[in-house]
Amino acid sequence: MQEAANNPIPNIPSSPLPKVVIIGAGFGGLKLARELNKKPFQVILLDKNNYHQFQPLFYQVATAGLEPSAISFPLRKIFHHSNNVIFRMAEVKGIDQSAKRIQTDVGYLDFDHLVLAMGADTNYFGAKNIETFASPMKTVSEALYIRNKIIHNYEKAINIAQSENRRALMNVVIVGGGPTGVELAGAMAELRNNVLPKDYPELSFKNMKVVLIEAGPSVLAAMSDVAKSSSLEYLQDLGVEVLLDTKVKDYDGKKVYLEDKEPIETETLLWAAGIKPNKIAGLQEEYYARNGRIYVDEYSEIRGAKNIYALGDISLMQDEAYPKGHPQVAQVALQQADNLAKNLIRSTKDKQKKAFHYKDLGSMATVGRKLAVVDLPFIKFQGLFAWLTWLFVHLMAILGVKNKLFIFMDWSWNYLSFDPSLRLLIKPKYVRESERHELIEEK
Ligand SMILES: Cc1cc2nc3c(=O)[nH]c(=O)nc-3n(C[C@H](O)[C@H](O)[C@H](O)COP(=O)(O)OP(=O)(O)OC[C@H]3O[C@@H](n4cnc5c(N)ncnc54)[C@H](O)[C@@H]3O)c2cc1C
Repeated sequence: MQEAANNPIPNIPSSPLPKVVIIGAGFGGLKLARELNKKPFQVILLDKNNYHQFQPLFYQVATAGLEPSAISFPLRKIFHHSNNVIFRMAEVKGIDQSAKRIQTDVGYLDFDHLVLAMGADTNYFGAKNIETFASPMKTVSEALYIRNKIIHNYEKAINIAQSENRRALMNVVIVGGGPTGVELAGAMAELRNNVLPKDYPELSFKNMKVVLIEAGPSVLAAMSDVAKSSSLEYLQDLGVEVLLDTKVKDYDGKKVYLEDKEPIETETLLWAAGIKPNKIAGLQEEYYARNGRIYVDEYSEIRGAKNIYALGDISLMQDEAYPKGHPQVAQVALQQADNLAKNLIRSTKDKQKKAFHYKDLGSMATVGRKLAVVDLPFIKFQGLFAWLTWLFVHLMAILGVKNKLFIFMDWSWNYLSFDPSLRLLIKPKYVRESERHELIEEK
């Protein structure tokens, strides 16, 4: 590793073109690289994974509705026919601003323009026990881990004689009433109502709780009142216990402790309650806001750092309409990337840059079969039509014809059969800290 750090990343062809290095091939970084394809730049796209992940459908991987490969797309394939975009799987460790150089785990790289698009990770707000024992869902591997954990717990529960000793294995508690929490809770309730009783007929599912905990007074806080109330009603109809105005105090892997409420037994605590931007060493501290986002101007350039830009979840661009910054959603990252690409191209033609203005296309969340809420700028609707709209929009947004086809087939099969077929327990070699405790206890 040390040796790699002292050498340049090998096999990057030399080029007279200005070098744009993009860190992160998520929504923002990948969009930017695609927009700069075949343009007068040498573009080097770096990501610690060699695939792009479609985060809005992670919850379907976690609840056995979709294969991980259906929502992940190999990055190299996207640039097969490109002669100016190079992809490297590399984890960026730090920046030397004055030398215009970044350090990665496979070597260093110099840049003319640097774009930070590293997205965000799970925020546990300093709660160490929750970080140790709860399951986050910020990557496709974490979503797959949740699927394995739930199935593993049921395989364990069926071998336990006393029903009270099975409770913690069967209950699922989700923290965070944003779209991810709502979608996870709805999908878990549907598994409980329609699928798990067929797989484990010896177990009684009447006592299996699916609980959604939200610290604020409503679910889907960023959506309209009608979306909030409809989604709450849908969740409750599916049998989800929704606890609003409820704060989680602690979790020991067996029980969730709440402020002013009885603890809940569960070995499955899914944490969808907050995110924090990913950081890399070497960037000056004054660029960061208190919430860890990086201040950028209306052109996405970091305030005070020439030719270094930040896009998407990691960035904080304030304007009149969004004084606290834009929402951390895919559309913002995509639109900022598009604007930055256009400005970089304009700069090669000595044209004026254009400021970014976010166009809010609306938001949506699905709770279950035929149950969704959609807020568009000009209309809000719920129920079956909202669900069909949600399906269509997500299918269109997925990269790759094969992935679209596979997802369409999986969704059709699941809709007709009530029987998602992906309930395989694929055990990773990697053992989490929380499981190590469990294994030691079991011994
Ligand atoms: C479960 C879930 C559901 C969501 N649902 C929705 C939704 O329905 N609609 C919506 O609009 N938004 C949704 N979001 C939010 C949306 O996914 C983000 O706003 C969006 O991905 C931000 O894009 P980005 O380009 O900033 O970062 P990301 O898309 O997160 O990409 C960051 C990339 O950087 C890479 N990376 C990070 N650190 C390094 C490093 N040091 N070196 C190299 N590579 C690195 C990562 O591997 C990743 O590929 C959801 C998010 C989650 C987690």
